[in-house]
Amino acid sequence: NTPSTLAAPRVRFEIDGDVAVIVIDNPPVNAGSTEVRAGLREAIARLAADPALVAGVLIGAGNSFISGSDIKEFAGPLRQPELPAVIEDIEACPKPIVAAIHGAAFGGGLELTLGCDGRVAVRGALVGLPEVQLGMIPGAGGTQRLPRLTGIARAIDLIISGRRIKAEEAASLGIIDKLVDSPEHLRAEAVGFAHMLAGQKHLLRDLPLPQEDAGAIEVAESTALKGGRARENVKEAIASIKRTTSLPFDEALAQERAIFQRLRLSEEAAALRYNFFAERAAAKIEGAADHPPRPVRDVGVLGAGTMGAGIAAVFAAAGFNVTLTDVNREVLDRAAGRIAQAIGDLVRSGKLKADRAAAAGARVTYAADMQAVSDADLLLEAVFEELSVKTEVMKTLGRLAKKTAVIATNTSYLDMNELAAASGRPEDVIGMHFFAPAYRMRLVEVVRGDRSLPDAVNTGMSVAKAIGKLAIVAGASEGFIGNRIYSRYRGQCEYMLEEGAFPSEIDAAVETLGFAMGPFAVSDISGLDIAWLMRKRKAATRDPRERYVRIADRLCELGRLGRKTGLGWYDYAGVTSGRGKVDPAVTAIIREEAAKRGPTRSFTEKDIQRRVLGAIVNESALLLNDGTARSAAEIDLVLVNGYGFSKFNGGPLFLASHLKDADIEAMIEEAEQAVGFGFRRGNTRALLESLR
Ligand code: NAD
Repeated sequence: NTPSTLAAPRVRFEIDGDVAVIVIDNPPVNAGSTEVRAGLREAIARLAADPALVAGVLIGAGNSFISGSDIKEFAGPLRQPELPAVIEDIEACPKPIVAAIHGAAFGGGLELTLGCDGRVAVRGALVGLPEVQLGMIPGAGGTQRLPRLTGIARAIDLIISGRRIKAEEAASLGIIDKLVDSPEHLRAEAVGFAHMLAGQKHLLRDLPLPQEDAGAIEVAESTALKGGRARENVKEAIASIKRTTSLPFDEALAQERAIFQRLRLSEEAAALRYNFFAERAAAKIEGAADHPPRPVRDVGVLGAGTMGAGIAAVFAAAGFNVTLTDVNREVLDRAAGRIAQAIGDLVRSGKLKADRAAAAGARVTYAADMQAVSDADLLLEAVFEELSVKTEVMKTLGRLAKKTAVIATNTSYLDMNELAAASGRPEDVIGMHFFAPAYRMRLVEVVRGDRSLPDAVNTGMSVAKAIGKLAIVAGASEGFIGNRIYSRYRGQCEYMLEEGAFPSEIDAAVETLGFAMGPFAVSDISGLDIAWLMRKRKAATRDPRERYVRIADRLCELGRLGRKTGLGWYDYAGVTSGRGKVDPAVTAIIREEAAKRGPTRSFTEKDIQRRVLGAIVNESALLLNDGTARSAAEIDLVLVNGYGFSKFNGGPLFLASHLKDADIEAMIEEAEQAVGFGFRRGNTRALLESLR
């Protein structure tokens, strides 16, 4: 191997016999940056010009091929040279060039290989075109070249799902020409393959589309368009793929590029990129490497109710052995049915392979005696939300859990530090706050108690990841991140009822803002009684100067507890799915309570949204100030993944960061006026600045 230097620092030009080996070296993941692209062009020119060389190989240094494009670059003007220029050079080079893939080739990385004359990959390497998940479409020929290998139907499936597939599957689809067993042999195999192609070019642009059944294309298209996934970029991606049949190659390519250029600058793509980077940051805890997670294989779940059964199912589906206990024999007897239901849901949503469902169910053991969880590595309690009940359970768990175990509580509102203390070993205790239904909701707040050891917290983070959840660290204040914000904005919604707005108006405005469901519709689903009990419990200690809205109490007193009773904020008589009907009885109660308070006004959709956003922004600032949340972006992740805010809108704070400071100030003042006594002002300027 004779290395030879290039002007570009991120690409090396090496010679192996009569083959040039072009090595991409841009640690840590060989992102396709502008330096990489410039280096590739220079290297390809050198290969073309050197008469002693007959072919080339593109390969990544370290543990990956080009794992993807530099996503940050998509937010602004692209730097030269752009990726299509590199691919044009490969195609124009008179000598064949073979891509050698190990690790990952995603997005632009895979598109680069599709411009080559052949693709060799190590078994287990991953390839995919995830652009659609980031609000864009592939922009460097992916929608034109992939169908020439896989056919249109499969290209639609791969590009719309953004799925990452293993090299073995890619080979069976025709994307990979040759599989190699181990990474050590990749370079030599690719050099051999390139050498063999000497004197030929095998460009995908010259390949006819494979024969395929028109019905299959229709099925792929209708699958891609259903399930709320029919965003504009999804439709554009499908249209672009289909242009392979109707337009000359270069024209279709140019159209693909133009759409990519427009979509990458869209608000939606910006919001999705924001979420993408926020998730990456959320996974990192400072100093985590010094406190590795404790090993977890066996999990004990206490309480087999709504949450416990769902949580048990999720752990079992991910391969953990689960022991589920409950003091109530009847609940325990019904638990297997609930778990089967939850597992069925995981299969339907594609999170669990159908042939693994039976084994997952079999990994759950049911026990009436708490002693059965004494060998578990992680003990997770999801018993009644009652301080006395939970304290007792924590005391027992502290005694019976083995020394190395982590004890987790799923409490929503109770004092996590007090529960930790009750166990007698608070250093082993964390919160793992799941969301209902646990088998569907992606969020888990991993709560760091005042005395939790770092390795206990890391255990929570690592098991959450292992069960496919998004873990966000939170401090142990009441309601953690999500419920604290939820309580505040919900409070504003109740105030607005007293001031002249109605539940259907508020729900609609909140939904337009980005939440999947407004607070009154949510309350009807979860039941009005839980919050009612909590209000009654707190009544004795509530400061009489605090603003208190009686409307919900009056509904509860009438037995209107939500959907389960047929009546709540709405009327569900004759309603089988979707929204309830506006009920004049509720309207009358609201009018009465509002009249007691004074004159009312009308609210526009904007007015309502301003109140809600004002409350969210202010409480978020307080969460950052007191250390309950680490960053604004993580608060948005909580609201997106646990409270149904649309990721396509980024998150409430992302939205607010695009507004003017004066506008935000005015919003918070409105929220403050509504709260009156007890309002605390957060440093919202610093919060929003952190996002700009
Ligand atoms: P649930 O009433 O459906 O289930 C609680 C179960 O705990 C019951 O089956 C009960 O028999 C059992 N139990 C009571 N004492 C026990 C003991 N000493 N040992 C073993 N089992 C015992 O309640 P849920 O909705 O599943 O809520 C459980 C916990 O999850 C609560 O802390 C709640 O705040 C929290 N949580 C609930 C939701 C939700 O939306 N339901 C969301 C997040 C967190």
